[in-house]
Amino acid sequence: MGTLVVRGGRVIDETGERDADVLVRDGVIVEVGPGLDAPGAQVIDADGAVVAPGLVDIQVHFREPGREDAETVETGARAAALGGFTAVVAMPNTTPPLDDAKVVGAVLEQGRRASCHVAVAGCITRGREGHELAPMGELYDLGVRIFTDDGDCVADANVMRRAFEYARALPGAVIAQHAEDPALVAGGHMHEGEWSARLGIPGRPAAAEITIVARDLELARLTGGRYHVLHMSTAGATALVRAAKAEGVRVTAEASPQHFTLTDAECASFDPVFKMNPPLRSSDDVDAIVAGLVDGTIDAIATDHAPHPPASKELAFEEAPPGMLGVETALAVAITRLVEPGVLSLRDALARLSWQPARIAGLDAHGHGLPIAPGNAANLCVIDPSETWVVDPARSASKSRNTPWAGWKLTGRVRHTILRGEPVVINGEAVR
Ligand SMILES: [Zn+2]
Repeated sequence: MGTLVVRGGRVIDETGERDADVLVRDGVIVEVGPGLDAPGAQVIDADGAVVAPGLVDIQVHFREPGREDAETVETGARAAALGGFTAVVAMPNTTPPLDDAKVVGAVLEQGRRASCHVAVAGCITRGREGHELAPMGELYDLGVRIFTDDGDCVADANVMRRAFEYARALPGAVIAQHAEDPALVAGGHMHEGEWSARLGIPGRPAAAEITIVARDLELARLTGGRYHVLHMSTAGATALVRAAKAEGVRVTAEASPQHFTLTDAECASFDPVFKMNPPLRSSDDVDAIVAGLVDGTIDAIATDHAPHPPASKELAFEEAPPGMLGVETALAVAITRLVEPGVLSLRDALARLSWQPARIAGLDAHGHGLPIAPGNAANLCVIDPSETWVVDPARSASKSRNTPWAGWKLTGRVRHTILRGEPVVINGEAVR
């Protein structure tokens, strides 16, 4: 490992903002201040740019093992690095699922060679079947901190209760829920509302999310357990989380860029790129998610990066699988939608994209999202916050192409990404 100096940028982290160079040696930040240099140091140009802690995405689907035609740990991590992420949490709905120490170990091994730190979430239940708890202690010992059956909701309240109780014995562990009541969403393909009625597409009601979040918050109260709402999408659930936080319930929540930007009206195109679970909601829901991000009810922006090979997204709306790509565009959508119009400051957006999610997933203990200060790991991204660009799916590093942002002109671009002191993206190009 070498020495590098990130020169000429504006450093923004949890502690504040200042113009400073960042000197890095052997993967660790050694000095932050003006006019830094060191003999033989590689110079990383941050002139006119923002230098921030690397972004942290606590919900991605890298499809390995099982669907390597859609994505792999290697390609997903490269795409994430291009999006400014130095750490991600891969969801366990793979084939086989991540409910077993051997499978988790194999994915973590793949991650060691990747362009960003790949942590994994473990299943709450064996086989993601919702009945019997997975060996959470064994998975915890491998470093798993987020437990979820994501892709599916844990519908059985008693199983959720026991998961909360078990996780209480594991410091830093959190029970994360894909909050959609399976009975209420059965057969549905988009948000249930005016648009689903007009289009004749069976709906998934907001109540499916709200009822599960309400129940889980009661179970978190009952057990003292830690609860995290994945990809929260409704005004109702946001209000419940806001009230629970005020009462001291141990709850955090995340929202995905699509849920604070797009509405169910997009489904009128019948283009499956707009199909996802939870679905795109009404404009009132979108407004509530934005308000939740602003007042801190929603702690994190997470992408739910869900690659699907082109063939499957060419199916009819009702046959196509749900999900969209996210890691390469999340920062720019957040800047375009929230920072540019003055809804959030850039630093508050970075809080929701870096240090707050890092803390939820325990990735701060691995050197992610920490202040840019001597002694901390050099996990950094360098951002041009006002550069505009047009999303071209053909240029994506992902194996898949299912992005609803194709052709969108976005503001905010990642210039460089540095992982443990090593550049992995330079001038917008992957170098690893
Ligand atoms: Zn999910």
